[in-house]
Amino acid sequence: MKRDYYEVLGINKTASAEEIKSAYRKLALKYHPDKNPGNKEAEEKFKEINEAYEVLSDSQKKQQYDTFGHDSVGGGQNRYTYTSGDFSNMGDIFGDIFGDIFSGTNRSRNRASQQRGEDLRYDINISFLEAMKGSEISINIPKKEICYMCHGTGSKDGTPTRCPQCNGIGQIKYSQGFFSFSQECPKCKGKGTIVNNPCYECKGEGIVKKKKTIKVKIPAGVDEGTSLKVSGSGNAGINGAPAGDLYVVIHLKPSVSFRRNGNDLYTDISISFSQAAMGMEYEVPVIEGYVKLKIPAGIQPGAILRVREQGFPLLGRKTKGDLYVKINISVPKTMNGTQKRALFEYAKAMGEIPKDTKYQNDNFFKKIFN
Ligand SMILES: [Zn+2]
Ligand SMILES: [Zn+2]
Repeated sequence: MKRDYYEVLGINKTASAEEIKSAYRKLALKYHPDKNPGNKEAEEKFKEINEAYEVLSDSQKKQQYDTFGHDSVGGGQNRYTYTSGDFSNMGDIFGDIFGDIFSGTNRSRNRASQQRGEDLRYDINISFLEAMKGSEISINIPKKEICYMCHGTGSKDGTPTRCPQCNGIGQIKYSQGFFSFSQECPKCKGKGTIVNNPCYECKGEGIVKKKKTIKVKIPAGVDEGTSLKVSGSGNAGINGAPAGDLYVVIHLKPSVSFRRNGNDLYTDISISFSQAAMGMEYEVPVIEGYVKLKIPAGIQPGAILRVREQGFPLLGRKTKGDLYVKINISVPKTMNGTQKRALFEYAKAMGEIPKDTKYQNDNFFKKIFN
């Protein structure tokens, strides 16, 4: 049962957009994976908070949710996947959060309106095999890049000129009585420079929005919710400030045959009654290929056997989890005459039927056992 989104963020239904954002930021900071390494509970909380915020921060989705509840806003598996993707909103939010976490050192405006680029987030679905072996993927994301025409200067003819009004500082000081304060220079809008001949490509901004292909190495052992940081692949910074980072968040496509818990893998197999009674060697499918598993004689339905080191590797280590195989016993739905006769003899040998009983016909078992 999903928790109410308002309850998740600890706010009431009348909360304003500002209150929603502030509640989200507080919780996201508290439960952020960077602050709670290895803490599964915090990670789950973080996901829950993000999901709630994604809906409540979007006025249209919020209205749908208020009226129709969870189903209307599709809290399904692909909720974080951006297909044609507008990252700007997410980028700002994450920019805010990471800015706070890293105590704003990168984001402080030490020069005229220098501003670190926003962090971006990209969600990706991968298979169990990819998560186990690791892989390299190419993702195509829209992001802000330094303009290739003017190299970020914003000027068609190379260098922009220093703003005469603020003398290149980007701020103008005012004095009022004992107090003095600074304000963004209105002429250059805090940039410190003005462009007389704006670049055609970026219209003088120095930055353009482009789709960019980025290669991301997925290490072996990633799990649902693992976040990979690609430093410097977020949005470009303003006025020579560093770019933000890209966070690639992993989601696992569900598997038909396997379940995963931490680094361990779980699967079920079915064997017959006689195989269970006599024991056998079974070829168990694993993520890649098969392994031989010795099933001891007399194994019971529901028994679980362990195959060492057929689970997922621990991130960045050689150690691997195990595979747990649950044994199901299948019962034949139909049998031919020979099989029935054999089973009849078996039942006699086990003392389930009186020794002097004779095998008669197909309806025999019904008579005996009813
Ligand atoms: Zn340009
Ligand atoms: Zn200025």
